[in-house]
Amino acid sequence: MPPNRKAILQDNRPIVTPTVISRSEHNISRANISEPALKVLYRLKKSGYQAHLVGGGVRDLLLGREPKDFDVATDATPEQVKACFGNARIIGRRFRLVHVRFGREIIEVATFRSMQFQQTEQSDEGMVLRDNEFGTIEEDALRRDFTVNALYYNISDFSVIDYSGGMADLEAGLLRLLGDPETRYREDPVRMLRAARFAAKLGFNIEAATEEPIARLGHLLAEVPSARLYEEVLKLFISGYAVSAFEKLRHYGLFGQLFPQTEEALSHEEHEFPLTLVLKGLENTDRRLAQGKPVTPAFLFAVLLWEPLRRIAEELQADGVPFYQALQEAGSLVIGRQVQRVAIPRRFSIPMREIWTLQARFHNTKGKRPLRLLAHPRFRAAYDFLLLRAEAGEADPELAAWWTRYQEEQGLDPRGGGKPATSRRRRRPRKRRPAK
Ligand code: ATP
Ligand code: MG
Repeated sequence: MPPNRKAILQDNRPIVTPTVISRSEHNISRANISEPALKVLYRLKKSGYQAHLVGGGVRDLLLGREPKDFDVATDATPEQVKACFGNARIIGRRFRLVHVRFGREIIEVATFRSMQFQQTEQSDEGMVLRDNEFGTIEEDALRRDFTVNALYYNISDFSVIDYSGGMADLEAGLLRLLGDPETRYREDPVRMLRAARFAAKLGFNIEAATEEPIARLGHLLAEVPSARLYEEVLKLFISGYAVSAFEKLRHYGLFGQLFPQTEEALSHEEHEFPLTLVLKGLENTDRRLAQGKPVTPAFLFAVLLWEPLRRIAEELQADGVPFYQALQEAGSLVIGRQVQRVAIPRRFSIPMREIWTLQARFHNTKGKRPLRLLAHPRFRAAYDFLLLRAEAGEADPELAAWWTRYQEEQGLDPRGGGKPATSRRRRRPRKRRPAK
């Protein structure tokens, strides 16, 4: 255990002697920090405040990875931060943050939070005293989740400040929660999902004491609002490492907390295709992201919830309900149960249902019907879904092949997003969104 961690965690009080890693001893270069993030850091410093890069940005830079975004921590209050920038907005009610906007990039600036604030909030004693809300950098460091997420890059001398042995854990590839793991998971059960996610993303191991409570405490996720879990599900499955995240979640028994119906359906082992479909679907998502192609949550959720839906639809069909109607009814049932755990915005649940119900319409290959289906706005996604089902061994590969051939006959490229095989000029220019 690094020497300084013991000191911090003994009585859960901040210490004042962190390890400072000077510029010559670490690999963070300003060349790898975005222009807007640097501007924010320098402006705060010029105004007389402390300014640090913190969280995933520092962690990823130290690992030689490209950070997803840059977060800044400062001793300036949100009002003081706002006053430094023309393009800043205070957001959030629970934790007030400042968003500084530079074109499409937003830099999130947070004032150091105090430990007291956290306690006041937990005990539900009504209004939080403004005095207690903000703290020192030491306090801010200790209320973060993992040691590797609690490193600060100080713009005043380009050093990295380490209050918790995060550097050593980074080098060892270890995810270690700050403080007592069980307490930290009870405070915020989403930290269990974050452990699985960072393990998948970084290829790190979860340190033994941090790992141990997860299997016991996974059920606490039931108390987390479904809208927050939706955000976490997107981070888990739409970040380029979905297959690995899925495997970690299942290993720790967390997947079933997010998708109980899917977990239940996957536990029936009479066929292999349900698991194959999920894995291939997630592989697809990872591949598309690696190629810079867009992915939609509608397709992701369609994949994840297909097996529970298919099983119900199969039963309905056995009772004489036609396939299309069975898919509709099963879809309503499955979505209704799922959103009690993880919210799915309507802008995604509607196309998801279409992807599902179009599976029935693929069986109509006679007359004008195929041509009409081709014009359906969801045809492309539904066709990709059919291919996936066929690949997994659940749908008839002959049917999938028929639709591939049919598109080619119609002069469409089945692999090119339903676009004409030869490039043709657009007849109408695309409508521009009005500038905000
Ligand atoms: P990513 O690469 O996904 O952005 P990140 O570590 O930056 O990873 P964020 O969700 O952007 O994750 O959070 C930024 C930082 O805020 C974290 O690194 C961590 O220090 C702190 N943090 C975020 N969520 C929590 C939490 N639930 N509990 C404690 N600290 C948290
Ligand atoms: Mg981040």
